[in-house]
Amino acid sequence: MSSKYDVLVIGGGNAALCAAISARRGGASVLVLEGAPKFYRGGNTRHTRNMRCAHDAATEILTGPYTEEEFWEDLLRVTGGQTNEVLARHMIRESKDILNWIVEQGVRWQPSLGGTLSLGRTNSFFLGGGRAMLNALYLTAERLGVAVEYDAEVIDLVIEDGMFLAARLQRPVKGQSEVRAGALVAAAGGFEANIEWLKQYWGEAADNFLIRGTPYNRGSILKMLLDKGVQEVGDPTQCHAVAIDARAPKFDGGIITRHDSVVFGIVVNKHAQRFYDEGEDLWPKRYAIWGRLVAAQPDQIAYIIFDSTVVTSFMPTLFPPIAGQTIAELAGKLALDPAALEQTITEFNAAVRPGTFDHTILDDCVTEGITPPKTHWARRIETPPFLAYPVRPGITFTYLGTRVNKEARMLMKDGKPSANMFAAGEIMAGNVLGKGYAAGMGMTIGSVFGRIAGREAAKHARN
Ligand SMILES: Cc1cc2nc3c(=O)[nH]c(=O)nc-3n(C[C@H](O)[C@H](O)[C@H](O)COP(=O)(O)OP(=O)(O)OC[C@H]3O[C@@H](n4cnc5c(N)ncnc54)[C@H](O)[C@@H]3O)c2cc1C
Repeated sequence: MSSKYDVLVIGGGNAALCAAISARRGGASVLVLEGAPKFYRGGNTRHTRNMRCAHDAATEILTGPYTEEEFWEDLLRVTGGQTNEVLARHMIRESKDILNWIVEQGVRWQPSLGGTLSLGRTNSFFLGGGRAMLNALYLTAERLGVAVEYDAEVIDLVIEDGMFLAARLQRPVKGQSEVRAGALVAAAGGFEANIEWLKQYWGEAADNFLIRGTPYNRGSILKMLLDKGVQEVGDPTQCHAVAIDARAPKFDGGIITRHDSVVFGIVVNKHAQRFYDEGEDLWPKRYAIWGRLVAAQPDQIAYIIFDSTVVTSFMPTLFPPIAGQTIAELAGKLALDPAALEQTITEFNAAVRPGTFDHTILDDCVTEGITPPKTHWARRIETPPFLAYPVRPGITFTYLGTRVNKEARMLMKDGKPSANMFAAGEIMAGNVLGKGYAAGMGMTIGSVFGRIAGREAAKHARN
């Protein structure tokens, strides 16, 4: 069995749907191949809540302007300069238009959630979350006449001299078939759900990683493209990784397993030692480093420790905190050395200086004389019951990807642009994110480059 379309989109998340809609609006016939069954369609996008876009003025749901320059400075800071400035600035400029474009595709916004997020000015929240956002995009795509196949895993790509010719897919009942297309948009995510691939860079430690999103993002399309001559971009060990509850499932635990309580307490490793400044910067700019920090600790486990005065300050997660009336009792429940934990907390408490606590700003609650310091939001841990969350690295998505240009067109190893292959979303996130992360950028990368990829793919295919 074989079929032919103008544009083939591989993937079923935000990047794929933005590309499919954009290509269809550009006049192309479009097929979307989603490897997951219909209920699980939409990859990691299902778990999302918001997107970061530049805007010059407050909107109905955004509390103030977030200029292109401020977005760029944030990106520069979180990546430590490891970004492609041309592509990043292009993405930021285009993100301004995405705020309206995505609404034209049926997505609705809602005001920011509160708590530790501090995103009310910069990030737009999807009304109903990522699944609702996806439902709107699928509905629009289908209304426009985009064909969608679920349970349709692409298992091979036919590429000759940088030109995509066809894809082979495997379906549970229908078996194998081939699709030919005038252009390809690869939007099949990173390789975060492929533990064996992660192990190539992280060794046995990767066995202790939990994967926050879809088990379907195994990086198979990324690998095929790199094996068939596409230029890679990004460091394979770089990824978005947060601290999630150690009791979370291996895959797909989603947002409800993430702990946003770090700034309210301290974090210790299995030797009951602190290892990093828990108050370095506002949480949206720091939450994404904690996965890597925990990954570097012995046995890839750590414990967020706080006391009963802060329990209502952050979003409750799926798992209740572990409690003890004394530090020693808590240590026993966590299998930590009680004397070591008592000493760490005593030293920390003694180092806390008086200040005015405010988690929404870089406040003046600091420690003095301990290493590592806690440079904001430092308050004594002294009111029982004492509480803890065990945490492990929760891998969100990887940054190794396919190199692209401003048209979202993939570049081949010889530096030449591919004739008809485009990429969007996680699969090319490393072009913009060399390391680090600012909340809401995953969806910006997918929407902006998805829209561009679809438009350019349609243009190519129709010429
Ligand atoms: C818990 C969680 C919360 C997050 N929250 C946010 C947030 O609020 N804001 C934000 O910006 N980002 C967030 N992210 C990151 C965000 O999810 C991603 O950056 C974004 O969804 C990526 O979109 P995508 O389309 O590139 O990939 P995905 O949405 O992951 O889609 C990839 C698709 O490719 C399909 N696929 C893979 N291999 C194949 C194959 N061989 N054949 C066919 N199909 C295949 C998969 O089934 C999947 O549907 C979050 C991630 C997680 C896990």
